[in-house]
Amino acid sequence: MIAIIGGGITGLTLAYFLKRKGHKVTVIEKDAQLGGNASWTKLGEFDVGIFYHVVTNRDACLLNLIKELGIEDKLLAINTKMGFFQKGKLYPISTPKEFLSFPPLSWGERFRLGMLILQSKAIRDWRKLDEITAAEWLTRTSGEGNYKKIWQPIMNAKFGPASNEVVATDMWFRINRLSALRNRNTGSSVYSMRGGLKVFFDALEKRLILDGVKILKNSKIEKIETDKNRVSGILLNNRERLVCDKIISTIALADFHNLLPEDCGEYANALSRIRYLDNISLILRLKERFSPYYQLNIAEAGFPFTGIIGADALYPPEDFGKGYVLYISKYLLKGDSFLNIDKESLLDYYIPYLKKICPGFDKKLVLDISLTRKTNVEPLHSLNYAKLIPSFESPVQNLYLMCTAQIYPEPTVLNASVEYAGRLVGQFF
Ligand SMILES: Cc1cc2nc3c(=O)[nH]c(=O)nc-3n(C[C@H](O)[C@H](O)[C@H](O)COP(=O)(O)OP(=O)(O)OC[C@H]3O[C@@H](n4cnc5c(N)ncnc54)[C@H](O)[C@@H]3O)c2cc1C
Repeated sequence: MIAIIGGGITGLTLAYFLKRKGHKVTVIEKDAQLGGNASWTKLGEFDVGIFYHVVTNRDACLLNLIKELGIEDKLLAINTKMGFFQKGKLYPISTPKEFLSFPPLSWGERFRLGMLILQSKAIRDWRKLDEITAAEWLTRTSGEGNYKKIWQPIMNAKFGPASNEVVATDMWFRINRLSALRNRNTGSSVYSMRGGLKVFFDALEKRLILDGVKILKNSKIEKIETDKNRVSGILLNNRERLVCDKIISTIALADFHNLLPEDCGEYANALSRIRYLDNISLILRLKERFSPYYQLNIAEAGFPFTGIIGADALYPPEDFGKGYVLYISKYLLKGDSFLNIDKESLLDYYIPYLKKICPGFDKKLVLDISLTRKTNVEPLHSLNYAKLIPSFESPVQNLYLMCTAQIYPEPTVLNASVEYAGRLVGQFF
């Protein structure tokens, strides 16, 4: 039997591919529901993603899976307008034209920005970029003005306090992905799923169960057991032991290294060199739309949050009691006490800043509040990241790894998890 640790997208798609090859598979998930970082929660009486998620028409592997599950009709093409809040004003930057005519930029800066986008497209070998930070590369190639006015706010919105440590490769890939998506000529589109990703995970779970995959929920793995450096079983938190021949772990390395047998000390230390970000996301259902943008990057010093997601694009107000869903997301470095704040205090703290962006904003407009706080949501792509990535195989025989830390240089999106899961199964099973 092959045991898969984790019932997020990676674990479930691994199970799907392995079952198709005739293997006996058990997925073990510590939480009561599947989905991991793409799971869902209650916002009042409504189901919403614990984090905001979109799918693009470039996500071929994920779209193929959605098609195989027969839920293609649930995809909803949406408009994901992007905006900037800077010096008290809102600016649109959804299209390359808006991006390049962003008013705070001088003509010289616009020219250099255009050149950077063209240069990024021309780069074929990203390995050199792995040796410098994104801040250094973006400043060098597009100038200090563009860095301060455009890139730094975008990076702050995405990586929070870790933005200075992000490696150039990461931003290079994002710039190319974004410019392809924002380019109307490529016919690119962005989708959400009507009913949220719960619809996708419910369909996947149903298919796996029908195919004979065993799924254990509320089952935390405490230890991986070995015999003569070969996988022999796993120990669950209820002290139950499961015998298995092979294990694939899909969980964050920051959690995985605690499960390893004691004699894997050196390997475990190497894994822990990859650092992770935590995230705290306040989710609101509002009586009115907060802004016309899906993603609003905050480029104002002193703001306690850096990105606002107008998720009414994902969750149509007619399905949400005529309410507009909004995510206020903040990435955190390890040990930030902000992670422990409660939802009411967080909303009260954010309100004066929300009013600066939208002067009509008032607490009375808030219909429901929910809060997601999660550790190790994303690996931090720091300098020389490629050298830190562990291989699919581990030093323990029959123990494999497939987690977001191995997805590189592309961003850790759902599609990449499906693609890499397919690669691992193709290579080793
Ligand atoms: C704020 C935010 C926004 C995002 N937006 C998008 C987006 O728009 N589009 C997109 O494609 N992607 C997006 N992503 C990325 C996407 O959510 C992740 O890449 C994906 O969910 C990772 O899936 P995974 O299965 O690899 O890991 P996880 O989802 O972390 O799954 C791992 C699972 O393992 C379980 N587990 C952990 N420890 C144990 C244990 N000891 N025993 C048993 N089970 C255990 C966990 O509970 C979890 O369910 C976003 C992520 C974040 C944080």
